[in-house]
Amino acid sequence: MPLTTAKRVLLKLSGEVLMGDQDFGIDPAFVAELAQEVKAAKDTGLEICLVIGGGNIFRGMAGAAQGMDRAQADYMGMLATVMNALAMQNALEQLGVPTRVQSAIEMDKVCEPVIRRRAERHLEKGRIVIFAAGVGAPYFTTDSGAALRAAEMRCDALLKGTSVDGVYDSDPKKNADAKRFDTVGYDRVLADNLKVMDASAVALCRDNQIPIVVFSIREKGNLARILNGEGTQTIVQ
Ligand code: UDP
Repeated sequence: MPLTTAKRVLLKLSGEVLMGDQDFGIDPAFVAELAQEVKAAKDTGLEICLVIGGGNIFRGMAGAAQGMDRAQADYMGMLATVMNALAMQNALEQLGVPTRVQSAIEMDKVCEPVIRRRAERHLEKGRIVIFAAGVGAPYFTTDSGAALRAAEMRCDALLKGTSVDGVYDSDPKKNADAKRFDTVGYDRVLADNLKVMDASAVALCRDNQIPIVVFSIREKGNLARILNGEGTQTIVQ
């Protein structure tokens, strides 16, 4: 289905986009800009689920590479995603957009647990639901969390807003001749190990026929362009 007819989407933002131009952490000014883009999308009448990564704060793999127990490091990564979710919630609410955060790791002083029917109700009432802590289990990523929530919330598309403007046949930072796909099949992504999302996330989208739209969220106004069927992007379908 064309994105212009989508009624409900899941927007996945990598943690690194919250850093702005910093090397680490959260840049509140940049998060405020992102929130503006999300608000503009919501103002068109779309229902929006959000999933935010944690790579700007902590990645389990990085901890494991430095000798930490992988599962322990992954739990730290999941907590990082909760911080990012709260930062985005704050920025959206400062713009007057009602939101709820639902975390796959329960922390009832801070946010709600993930309850699908409750999330449905929030969307019906015009709230944005921010899903935190990925799938709530180590050895996964927030890409898998995004695919899972997109499937369970029956989203029409998973929009992956990242630092690159689509999916390339090789790394565009290393190879000047790298070619960007306009569209590419799930199976090609998996067979060629193209850098889109991790394999479990791509497989879950394939099995549930959820198109993945990869685009750069760093360019101002790009989310609106993508939702209008314009702008540079790759659609995995
Ligand atoms: N993580 C996890 N299980 C999940 C989601 C995330 O263990 O379901 C951990 C994992 O360590 C990951 C970190 O949280 O490295 C941050 O998430 P991710 O790397 O997906 O963030 P992004 O790259 O999107 O910023």
